Formats: sequence, structure tokens, C-alpha cells
Amino acid sequence: MVDSESLVLVADTRAVCDVVATTLGPFGATKLIVQDNGSVTLTGSGADVLERFDVENPAVALLQSAATGFRAQHGDGSTTLVALTGALLEEGADLVERGLHPTTVERGYRIAFDVADQSLSDHVLPLEEVGAEAVARTALTTTRDPGVRRHLGASIAEAADTVLRENDEGAVDRLNVAVVSRVGGAMAETDLVRGVVLTRDPVVETMPRSVSGGVALVSGTIDLPRGGSETSRRTNLRLSFTPGSFEERQAFADREHEVFERDLERALEAGCAFVATATAVNDSVKRALANAGLLVVQRVADDDLRRLARATGASIVPEFGDLEADALGEASVTVRRVAGRDMTFVEAAENEPIYTLFCRAPDPRRLESFSNAVESAVAAVLDAERAGTVAPGGGAAEMAAARDIRATVTQIAGREQLAVEAAGRALTVVPRLLARSTGLDAGDALIELRNAHAAGEETTGVDVLGGTVAEVLTDDPVAESVATKRACWESAVDLATKLLRIDERLPATDLGTGDEEPAEDRPRPPDR
Ligand code: ADP
Ligand code: MG
Repeated sequence: MVDSESLVLVADTRAVCDVVATTLGPFGATKLIVQDNGSVTLTGSGADVLERFDVENPAVALLQSAATGFRAQHGDGSTTLVALTGALLEEGADLVERGLHPTTVERGYRIAFDVADQSLSDHVLPLEEVGAEAVARTALTTTRDPGVRRHLGASIAEAADTVLRENDEGAVDRLNVAVVSRVGGAMAETDLVRGVVLTRDPVVETMPRSVSGGVALVSGTIDLPRGGSETSRRTNLRLSFTPGSFEERQAFADREHEVFERDLERALEAGCAFVATATAVNDSVKRALANAGLLVVQRVADDDLRRLARATGASIVPEFGDLEADALGEASVTVRRVAGRDMTFVEAAENEPIYTLFCRAPDPRRLESFSNAVESAVAAVLDAERAGTVAPGGGAAEMAAARDIRATVTQIAGREQLAVEAAGRALTVVPRLLARSTGLDAGDALIELRNAHAAGEETTGVDVLGGTVAEVLTDDPVAESVATKRACWESAVDLATKLLRIDERLPATDLGTGDEEPAEDRPRPPDR
């Protein structure tokens, strides 16, 4: 049996979970985060809050990396993951205090979540019934502005629908629909652009602000050829000698310029009009590029370069000198001034389905959580479109699963039964938090929900915007990705059981003294 005194790490983790959990849903609490360096962030995003917790507790660190990893993989659902993990920990800690071994708790939790999984499969709905826009709006939990939600929901649904229709489904990934953000302007100005938007301006101000034609994508620095480089090898120029005298140096420099001019000439002849490099453009060649009438941008992110390649049909070459005609893509490129800064919009000639959601918000604090929500919405809609089904949101799927778990409890022998029951209760944390966020009495709301689900009304949940317990798929449907929800539940069980086991392996005597080195395979005790 585990000494209850040892549940210190879990207690800390639960406290963190509680704070993060209150941000759940469109009416989740907004937190003001003040960091050590004095920076202040105002956010309603659970992921933001969790990432900025500065703690040494290894259990909290584990929670942080799990949530970050979950977001990276699924694009949404990390607050739910934390909330559910917190609830499972709370129930689990109670059970351990009552004498259950953590492995018994784990077994019970796994039995319960097998039932939950089945329940989820039983209660999915066809996507057509609710529409992809509704899935997008449900994920846009950081804005309640109905106009923004409607406009963005439609844009995201359109982008996801087109990329999936025009591509081999397996080939569609996050590169197809990217989110770019710029401080300044209103959220309502957020726009769907077909093509690639780069937050970069031309390397020389006098470069043309609009070109149409060949697109060159270079991963390396655009510079004069250096001795021994690909370029000098290719052109058979021996540039690798060490110049001594001033004249020799001058001749050497002239030769470098000559080679570059020749590369430039070839690029122009091939029809090149726009050049993007992942690294930099050296000062020594900027003028020549501008004089040649090219539009050139530098420091383009790797993902954006790949998106440009996909959109324009260009191949990425290591050096400007390696450019052959068949490596060029084609596009119309325009430099536009947005919120006081130049940005480059690349519209592919082939009309490849590559989209950019160009997010705007008046200040950086709001922009980050807003663009995160837009990314979540893109991920959720792509998921839903691929699966063709959705899960009812607003806590309805969790309520249904809790009901189904309760129905199986009596078939389970032994003490695991307690853990199975507890897991069912833990799932109701989602509707409970949503109810509280909209000002409902959580206890009353849960009773109402439980009665509705007992009567077979499986799509009854908390309508947060309406402030009631209601059928969530009518009017403005609340619907989520089934795959993300399934993964979220699974990860919560894994995480909670792992955390309960950490405490088991950490004898109470190791805590609080600080003068004892813990064994290698043990987690570090908290510093206090
Ligand atoms: P996560 O990081 O887990 O995605 P969110 O803050 O985005 O957390 O909240 C997601 C939860 O909010 C889901 O359970 C979803 O069903 C719920 N939700 C979103 N919009 C609504 C709404 N209008 N009414 C009720 N619940 C909603
Ligand atoms: Mg979300």
C-alpha cells in the first residue's frame, strides 16, 4: 500500500490542472500570466497557461510536455487532456488513500476507458448533419464574436474541403493550410488566402512590388560564388587560390562578380521573376538582383519554402548558381503593406490548393491565442472531413460515456470496480467545467444532463453560448473531431496512471529533506 503522505507530486499537479481546466471552452476564464522576465500575457487558452507555468515539480513537467506533445500532434484538445487528467488524478488519489494500489486503479481506468471508447464510436454523427463550419466554430474557443466565428468557420471549412477534394487524401497535411499572423487590425480582418503569405519584405526597397513568372526557391545563402563552391566547380573556374596583392584580390573579386552575373543572366533567361531563400541574401549581390528587376525575399521559414514548392511547382535548390530552368515554378507575387509592414503574397499559377489563413488581432497577447485557436480549428476540420463523422461537443460525448461506464460497473468484480466508477465520474469534469464557465450551477447541470442521458438523449450537453443545458446539435451545432477526442481520453488515462505511479515510487521519506540524493531511476522530489 502507498503512504498517502507521498501523494505530494500529484497534489501539485492537480493544482496546476485545476488552474488550466478553468480556461476550458468559449467562456473559459482568462488568465493573466506574469513571468519572471516581467512579460505579461492575457490568455484564455489552456495550452498557453500550462506552457508558462514555471515549475520544478517533475510531475508537472511531465504534464506540460504531454500537453504540448498532444497539441503538436492533434492540434486541439490539450485543455481537455489536462482537465481530464486532473480529474482522474483526484479520483485516483482518493482511491489510493482508501487503500487501492495504483496498479488496481490503472486496471480499473483502462476497463472504463475501453467502454468509453466504444461509447464514443456508438455516438458519432455524420459530418453532413452538422457541417464542417460548425466543427471549426467549436474549436474557435478564443473568440465569441459571432461575425468572426461565422466568417472564419466558413473560410476554414472551404480550405479544408478544397485541399481534400483536390488532393490525394493521404498527401494532405498541415502544409496545405497554414496559419500566419500579424499584429494590427481586427480579428474580423482575418482572411483566407489561396497561396502562400510570407511575413517578409523585399530585400531591396526598390525591387518591384508585383511580379508574375518564374519562381526560384533556394535553401542556401545567395552570395558571390566562393572558392570550391558548387558554382565554381560547375563553371570550371579556379577560384580557390589565395589572392596576395591588391591587383590579385581585385581580379579575384571581379571574377566572382562575373560568375554571379552569369548565374543571374541564366536565371533571367529561364524566366525567373521571384526568388525566395531560406537563409540570407548577401549585401554584395542585392543591388545586382534589384537591377535585374527581380523580387527577392530572404529568411523564409523551411515550412513556407516547402509550401511555396508545392504551390508553384518549383524545386528547392541549394544554391542560386544551381538553378536550372526546370527547377523554376510559376506564380504571381505581390508585396502588400499590412498593419504598417510589407508582406509578400504568392499566388500560384497552377492554382494548387495551398491556403494561408492570415490572422489579425490588435495586440500580440490576443493574437497568439487567437491564431492557436485557428490552427486548432483547421486540424479539427481536416480530421472531421477525413473521418466523415463528428462527436457531439459541450460535454455530451463525455456524459454519454460516463453513463455507459456506470451501466457496466456491476459486471466488474473486485476493487477495480471502484476505479471504473471513478473514471466515469472523472469524465463528467468536461460538462461540469463548461457549465460553471457559463454561470450555471454545476451540480444542477450535471443532474439535468444525467437525466437526459438516462432517457437516451445522447446529444444533450452544455450550450455554453446559450447558457443552458440543451441538445447541442441544433441551431449552432457544437461538434468535435472524434479522433482527437479518442486520443485525448487515451492520453489522459496514460498520463494519470503514470503520475499516480510516480508517487508510488517516491517514498515519503525522500520528500522535504533535500539532503538526500534520490536514486537514478527515481524522479527528483520537489524542491521544498
Ligand atoms: P481544448 O484545448 O481542449 O480544445 P477548449 O478551450 O478549446 O479546450 O474547449 C474545448 C471544449 O469546449 C470542448 O469540450 C467543446 O465541446 C467545448 N465547446 C466549444 N464551443 C462550445 C459551445 N458553444 N458550447 C458548449 N461547449 C463548447
Ligand atoms: Mg480547442
